[in-house]
Amino acid sequence: MDPDAVPAGTVREEYENLTDLVRKYRFAYYQQDEPLVSDAEFDELFRRLEEIEALHPELVANDSPTQEVGGEVSAAFAAVEHLQRMYSLEDVFSLAELEAWITKAEAGVSKLGDTAQLTWLTELKIDGLAVSLLYRDGKLVRAATRGDGTTGEDITHNVLTIKEIPTELTGTGFPSEVEIRGEVFIPSKAFAEFNEALIEAGKAPLANPRNAAAGSIRQKDPAETAKRPLRMFVHGIGAREGLETLSQSQTYAVLEQWGLPVSPYFEVLGGLPEVLAFIKRYGEQRHTLMHEIDGIVVKIDDFATQRALGYTSRVPRWAVAYKYPPEEVHTKLLDIQVQVGRTGRVTPFGVLEPVKVAGSTVARATLHNQDVVKAKGVLIGDVVVLRKAGDVIPEIVGPVMALRTGREDELREFVMPAECPSCGTELAPSKEGDIDIRCPNSRSCPIQLTERVAHLAGRGAFDIEALGGEAAVALTDPAEPRPGPLVSESGLFSLTAADLEHVRILREKRSKGVGTGVFELVPYFWTKATAKTPSKPTATTAKLLAELEKAKAQPLWRVLVALSIRHVGPRASRALATAFGTMDGIRNASEEDLAHVDGVGPTIAAALKEWFAEAWHVEIIDHWAAAGVRMEDERDQSMPRTLEGLTLVVTGSLPNFSRDEAKEAILIRGGKAAGSVSKNTSYVVAGESAGTKLDKAEQLGIPVLDEDGFRELLANGPAPAAEAAPTPTSTESEEAAE
Ligand code: NAD
Repeated sequence: MDPDAVPAGTVREEYENLTDLVRKYRFAYYQQDEPLVSDAEFDELFRRLEEIEALHPELVANDSPTQEVGGEVSAAFAAVEHLQRMYSLEDVFSLAELEAWITKAEAGVSKLGDTAQLTWLTELKIDGLAVSLLYRDGKLVRAATRGDGTTGEDITHNVLTIKEIPTELTGTGFPSEVEIRGEVFIPSKAFAEFNEALIEAGKAPLANPRNAAAGSIRQKDPAETAKRPLRMFVHGIGAREGLETLSQSQTYAVLEQWGLPVSPYFEVLGGLPEVLAFIKRYGEQRHTLMHEIDGIVVKIDDFATQRALGYTSRVPRWAVAYKYPPEEVHTKLLDIQVQVGRTGRVTPFGVLEPVKVAGSTVARATLHNQDVVKAKGVLIGDVVVLRKAGDVIPEIVGPVMALRTGREDELREFVMPAECPSCGTELAPSKEGDIDIRCPNSRSCPIQLTERVAHLAGRGAFDIEALGGEAAVALTDPAEPRPGPLVSESGLFSLTAADLEHVRILREKRSKGVGTGVFELVPYFWTKATAKTPSKPTATTAKLLAELEKAKAQPLWRVLVALSIRHVGPRASRALATAFGTMDGIRNASEEDLAHVDGVGPTIAAALKEWFAEAWHVEIIDHWAAAGVRMEDERDQSMPRTLEGLTLVVTGSLPNFSRDEAKEAILIRGGKAAGSVSKNTSYVVAGESAGTKLDKAEQLGIPVLDEDGFRELLANGPAPAAEAAPTPTSTESEEAAE
């Protein structure tokens, strides 16, 4: 039919524009290995093209991108003709579409009169570059890219640099001729390491493993290709002469015997439920696999059925690719601003044109510090690659360099502000050589106070649900005419209904983990709650007061987390609470004693000492204690204090005590539980797999106890225990170390 039959200015215009765009994007992707748009955006355009063609078949030209395998042959390489065409794959983007595809394929097969139960070879869709290897009598004679499917680029010399691709097949009984199809890729870990090395050498990192693999295999100089950590997995065959296998899976077994790299990630499955389970499983494992995947490929295993269904001009009718939701998209970096955290750290973050990625809309992404901004090479105004892998926070990967040309005037470099955007204090690293810039005005900087209040109410600290991010702002906002009632967190537990009368406490949903997370990416001073409607104590206000009351009884470790001491998170806080049992104990402990607590160490010990040295910090504790906040953990007072004055180190696993139980047992008997062995250690309690701590005990001549000896010590104190379990000989300690 004549495509001009559809009038210009309507669908035809859209169709033509789309066709041009798809061609342009394909060229940048396949020829230049430098995509201009994200795969998700490309896939959407391609889908729209298919939709228009389905509605207006008269528009479909023979050279429509939907009728061709994308890719051309670059003049930089010799063109080679594939013996059998290489195809692309039909994509589906939802499980419902996959189900519909499988149902349709099954119906198609039964129409052919085939009543046997179909089996589905299901495997990972490797995000790499399609390559065809031609073997004649077991010898590799040629390697080519897919190109347009019919003609590819000769990349034999480059492929020869990939060690796992055999130049000669192993075993016997090779066909006289066989084309092996597979994917060349860069494993995720090797990619990260390769990029680190590039950054260290002052070079720009590669954008993503797929484009990096494609760029690497299409180098003009094979010596350059040899430097790239390329791998290959084979996933099919093309032309074959003298190969009689009956199914895809049987072929994989044969290819493996010949020494070809077959992916370990494939299964032959009985039907849709198993395929869906496979998709779910690998969706969850996606980020721990050896290579990037963008989906799952499902193929009819049986070759006779494959042959019967055949191919369209672009894809086989017997296979489909299910694509996971995209994790990498392109968006515009509108600005880079900074936020100030609860410990004064100033962090730049990107303000993005909102974009959907991995299931959520992202408008901001942290850039960590000015060095990271520099290393990523992003400029304000750039189109950037944004990646959100699973639950990991969104990351700006880098700029799309190809889109900079001609737009240089719109781009601007980020400059770290010299002063705190909240309080105007001059910003500086806390010590020389620190990458992080901080606002040193921790006591009076309004945003730091707000952040600390939001943090102390978090689930991992006091867990005060009514005190969310907005409420933290309302309580601490210094703006006239009605500043919030808190000028320091010290007043929190003394708040009264009258104090809250003019404070609009909003209830809101909190995010997981410590702190509300609200300020992680939203600088509060732009979202200040300004409307403060005078009101009677509302239900929420009453709830806040009731929750504050309840929070006073929280265990010591939560109080410690709530104090926003640098480096002191839940793990260190639990360790400190277990080791010392009281806030005073922690406050008065020497730096050395603190550092010896398991899970604490010198950095945290120094941070604690520094924190307690500030009078206004101690005031917070004093005020909270005066308001009734519990500053010590309840311990069983009836226990005989058999370990008074002793310091014990527990190492390895004991048969009947967990590490925490053992520590608790020491503490309630008046002893100290340290994390490392020193000359001050009284005993080392060693269980199975005890390692270096046991060695150290031996070197220093410190008595070592097994569980029986430990029990003795707990029950009766030092003298009898020393007899019950004398220091072991070196042979004994070797046994214990095993
Ligand atoms: P495709 O990547 O969706 O699927 C076909 C290819 O998958 C095959 O050629 C094969 O090499 C590969 N593959 C990986 N694992 C496989 C396995 N286990 N079994 C069989 N094949 C396997 O299709 P395509 O035509 O190569 O390219 C389209 C893709 O490229 C889309 O994802 C699209 O988003 C992307 N693309 C992006 C741009 C852009 O500008 N961002 C432009 C063009 C194409």
